Amino acid sequence: MRDKPYEIRTWKDLPYATLTEVPSTFNNTGTWRTVRPIIDYDKCISCMTCWKFCPDVAISIVPNKKEGARFDEIPEIDYFFCKGCGICAHECPVNAIDIVEEESK
Ligand code: SF4
Ligand code: SF4
Repeated sequence: MRDKPYEIRTWKDLPYATLTEVPSTFNNTGTWRTVRPIIDYDKCISCMTCWKFCPDVAISIVPNKKEGARFDEIPEIDYFFCKGCGICAHECPVNAIDIVEEESK
């Protein structure tokens, strides 16, 4: 019987190329982006639906520092991680997120 070219028995046998040495916080998924989500804070109702749906955890809930603001907390996009998938804009119930062309680098 012919041997298999590569037999995987445990995780230690996985080919190295399928693994990464660093945690996902080092993966700059923002470099994948061709379009950029922009939050219109005048329309935003701070429901945090975008925060919940972002697959890259690129949206944080941060204190609203604006004087006389309607909401104490607002969503903030971290463009280091945002890959421009557009899910946040699709899920926003009040269309407060615009998707614009990324400026060419
Ligand atoms: S989903 Fe839209 S309205 Fe809700 S927090 Fe995000 S941007 Fe604001
Ligand atoms: S475009 Fe995608 S990756 Fe970027 S903030 Fe919205 S849901 Fe997250």
